[in-house]
Amino acid sequence: MPNNKNSKNTKSKQLKETLFLQRKHTAKIFSETEQKKADKFCEGYKSFLDAAKTEREAVREAVAACVKAGFAEFSGAKNYKAGDKIYAVNRGKSVIAAIIGKENLQNGVNLIAAHLDAPRIDLKQRPLYEEAELAYFKTHYYGGIKKYQWTAVPLALHGVVVKADLSTVEVCIGEDDSEPVFAVTDLLPHLAEEQYKRPANQLIKGEELNILIGSRPFNDEKGSDLVKLNIMRLLNEKYGIVEADFLSAELEAVPAHKARDVGFDRSLVGGYGQDDRVCSYTALRALLDCKKTPKRTAVVVLTDKEEVGSDGNTGLKSAYLRDFLQDLAEKQKAQLRAVLANSKCISADVNVAFDPNFPDVTEKLNVAYVNYGVAVAKFTGARGKSGTSDASAEFVGEIRKLFDTNKIAWQTGELGKVDQGGGGTVAMFLANMNIDTLDVGVPVLSMHAPFEITAKNDVYMAYRAFAAFVGG
Ligand code: MN
Ligand code: MN
Repeated sequence: MPNNKNSKNTKSKQLKETLFLQRKHTAKIFSETEQKKADKFCEGYKSFLDAAKTEREAVREAVAACVKAGFAEFSGAKNYKAGDKIYAVNRGKSVIAAIIGKENLQNGVNLIAAHLDAPRIDLKQRPLYEEAELAYFKTHYYGGIKKYQWTAVPLALHGVVVKADLSTVEVCIGEDDSEPVFAVTDLLPHLAEEQYKRPANQLIKGEELNILIGSRPFNDEKGSDLVKLNIMRLLNEKYGIVEADFLSAELEAVPAHKARDVGFDRSLVGGYGQDDRVCSYTALRALLDCKKTPKRTAVVVLTDKEEVGSDGNTGLKSAYLRDFLQDLAEKQKAQLRAVLANSKCISADVNVAFDPNFPDVTEKLNVAYVNYGVAVAKFTGARGKSGTSDASAEFVGEIRKLFDTNKIAWQTGELGKVDQGGGGTVAMFLANMNIDTLDVGVPVLSMHAPFEITAKNDVYMAYRAFAAFVGG
């Protein structure tokens, strides 16, 4: 009986809708207006990616955005009242922005932590050399990169050089179409038979990541190192530096390409450094766009050094965040330990997106999918949840309710199958301060590659999720 069968189907369908966890594509749930907003939001995001290719540049962009939104630099001498907007920069490489809430700090803050550093190739302290009349920079890569991905792609050079007289020279070359770029050369396939036998993580070895920077010798004189000399002469003309100045420099080679739309439907963003500038941008925007004075003080920290383990004074293992909270706490006669214990934190970092080309490394129920919203990861880590903070059911429940109430499209995320590998975020360092912390972020394809890919709808959902969190 077809009728009967149909009604049975409807009943099970209804029951499934009530009882089962559903997964919905953002494009199917977004209104036309919301889709337009998401696409427009990502135009600003792409501009940020192009302007902020290093942690220093990202801090500069963040501060400019803060100032534009009426935030003032934090002063230890000033007292702050509800609605005041402040920011504090740590050594030009990390930044904290905050809006003072209506409640006393003793009740805790709503904190979002994202990182501004991204995998790249740093120059060594003595980088310049010449070999076979070609000039090169020696490098030491920063963060977890698949080294072979960084060969044969145009690189730009960003950073600072501190000269002997302590004056600083800013370097940014290779971004404008009129400027030269640099590159690491790779072996032609015709002669790669031996190279192919190397394990993939040594296809290009660390000491082979040498950046080609020139090939013409100085004049036609005889002698050694004339190509190197010519390069040094050009650098001296342009930046006023000598070879010894590299000793006190931080120069970073990054992909020279701009962020672009990806796909015929322009649904995706491709670009360098989206891990984790995507969460940095969305978190900061969420704070800057906060129209009402929040109940609880809202804090966004954009930190450095996450990709190398968060050590160092600009990373989240440093005391700078705790000290900032302490400064705020003292002004309100609040105890720091109470502030921390009552605070809630979103550790805003990217997660792996399911890649149909490599389905085996992820587990299909728990992995995040591109376009299905912002990913929530209760834990990260590896080998039996090592190296992570495992958020409590209570705190996950709280965030779940917040996102559902605010109609945020969100999904679970997991850094690969159990025992497949794994990785961590800054979540554990915040949780170790006795703060409730949960990982929330945008799913990424080709993470840590020179050209990472995210979905515009997920980027927008991250912004909306963070806005709900800081506005509450
Ligand atoms: Mn990250
Ligand atoms: Mn990373």
